[in-house]
Amino acid sequence: MRFIILAAAFILSFSNISAQTTESKLQINHLTGNFYIYITYSLYNGYKVPANGMYLVTPKGVVLFDTPWDSTQFQPLLDSIQLRHNKKVVMCIATHFHDDRTAGLAYYKQQGIKTYTTKLTDELSKKNNKKRAEFLLAKDTLFSIGGYTFETYYPGQGHAPDNIIIWFKKERILYGACLIKSVEDDDLGYLGDANKTAYAATVKKVQAKCKQPNFVITGHGDYLHVQALQHTLMMAEELRKKNMK
Ligand SMILES: [Zn+2]
Repeated sequence: MRFIILAAAFILSFSNISAQTTESKLQINHLTGNFYIYITYSLYNGYKVPANGMYLVTPKGVVLFDTPWDSTQFQPLLDSIQLRHNKKVVMCIATHFHDDRTAGLAYYKQQGIKTYTTKLTDELSKKNNKKRAEFLLAKDTLFSIGGYTFETYYPGQGHAPDNIIIWFKKERILYGACLIKSVEDDDLGYLGDANKTAYAATVKKVQAKCKQPNFVITGHGDYLHVQALQHTLMMAEELRKKNMK
């Protein structure tokens, strides 16, 4: 009898631990209105690095912007959305070809979600063995769903050759993803696929298009400071000067 109680206590405490572990692997934070930020993690250079994605709840279903970086969180994200909002994810747009944006595309397609990238992202995904979307955007595209409208915009090369941003003109939300660094970043991060001379001009084009944003959502780290855009431009100008010499 004593053994059974101990065993039960052990199982209970073990399930507590696993519940906590699952929780810390996926965070969902309310942004504004029906917009939410979700955060997953991956190991990068031995460090646990967070990645931000976003989703929008509409009467016609949920739109996902980028996929979780952590492949164990593809389904937990769908489950959490279902539980919290009683709605299904109906579409997903990935903003460039790196894993922290595209990792879940094939999985979500399998789940019947309409997945999108630009044609350019798809070419790079194919070349680099990344997951690919079902539907390809040949140019900047305006989407309307459940009373919301947003636009994909390709401002040119920066963090990656194919980085797009998403602009919600009415709500003035700029989903910048990895092109835009957070105010806490001291550098532009991974530049292996970056265009070091064009980066600044590309950020300027985003600034010109997305006037007075209420929110600027970065790919990693702090996303609550709209100064992220200016901060990124400053670092990109430095990078350009260094690479012009
Ligand atoms: Zn990234």
